[in-house]
Amino acid sequence: MRVLVTGGAGFIGSHVVAQALSGGHEPSVLDNFSTGKRENVPPGVRVFECDLRDREATARAIREARPDVVSHQAAQASVPVSMKDPRLDAEVNLLGGLNLLEACRASQVKHVVFASTGGAIYGEVPEGERADESSPCRPQSPYGIHKLAFEQLLGVYASAYGLKSSVLRYANVYGPRQDPHGEAGVVAIFFNQARAGRPLQIFSRRASKDGGCVRDYTFVADVARANLLAMTGAVPHPLLNVASGQPTTTLELAQQILALTGSTSPLVHAAPRLGDIERSLLASQRFEQTLGTPTPLAVGLAETARYYLEQ
Ligand code: NAD
Repeated sequence: MRVLVTGGAGFIGSHVVAQALSGGHEPSVLDNFSTGKRENVPPGVRVFECDLRDREATARAIREARPDVVSHQAAQASVPVSMKDPRLDAEVNLLGGLNLLEACRASQVKHVVFASTGGAIYGEVPEGERADESSPCRPQSPYGIHKLAFEQLLGVYASAYGLKSSVLRYANVYGPRQDPHGEAGVVAIFFNQARAGRPLQIFSRRASKDGGCVRDYTFVADVARANLLAMTGAVPHPLLNVASGQPTTTLELAQQILALTGSTSPLVHAAPRLGDIERSLLASQRFEQTLGTPTPLAVGLAETARYYLEQ
């Protein structure tokens, strides 16, 4: 199968490319290298250096790549950046996405798999609950709004033009190759700090030293596997949470990372951060029925530790 991965030079996209290769498929990459890196793309994989905001270049790349299926990972992927520059977020995530859909339609691509977000679409998840695929959507940032709008556009392209789509709503993804210098990615930031012996900062959830916000940390290999299965048509659901379903506080995460790296970095508690969702936790039943048990945090962190300790 010919697979085009947009954002294939980025953190998650590069794992989709790697799994596509080892699954015997023929991947290519479309990326503008704004956050992606050339060394993330395996040798021999064709790269279309292209910005999705460029309509003509996007159409040309899809014409040349002739993919059967597109895994759409490219995005302005930061919530804080979307707050500071909502227009940029709309240009990349909405208009760039539309350029991709128009190009897919013109080149008779059969199927698009979309990297959406659970955390930024479901918003605050009350204590004792998990957000499942039918939970209300309460996006609170331009990033979440544009991701949700693009999901809905995919629905229009499916019903009006027969372009099949699968929406994957990721929880908080972590693993090798995540950039510790980006806006998000607390796991990568903590590994980086721990290795350098610098403090790990725990932003409180509400009150001082309360352990911080609760997140659903999901290993990148599970996310790539979900993409591969969706691309081959083996996910029977048009919408799927890609999540572990396990709650972890920032403090618990920091402690596990210190133990894995043998670091003596201090833990520093800080005031709650404006705009942070206190509790984000997704239901993983549908994921488990389709893909089996998600990778436990201890296992995924151990693999991630090996990667950062080798850097
Ligand atoms: P990333 O920044 O590592 O990857 C994004 C890739 O897209 C990069 O290679 C970048 O160069 C490319 N890109 C950005 N703008 C582009 C443009 N205009 N044209 C072409 N390429 C462009 O981020 P990531 O964490 O790997 O995220 C991948 C996808 O998963 C994104 O769609 C993101 O919104 C989504 N997501 C990520 C998480 C997470 O926890 N990392 C959670 C939910 C959803």
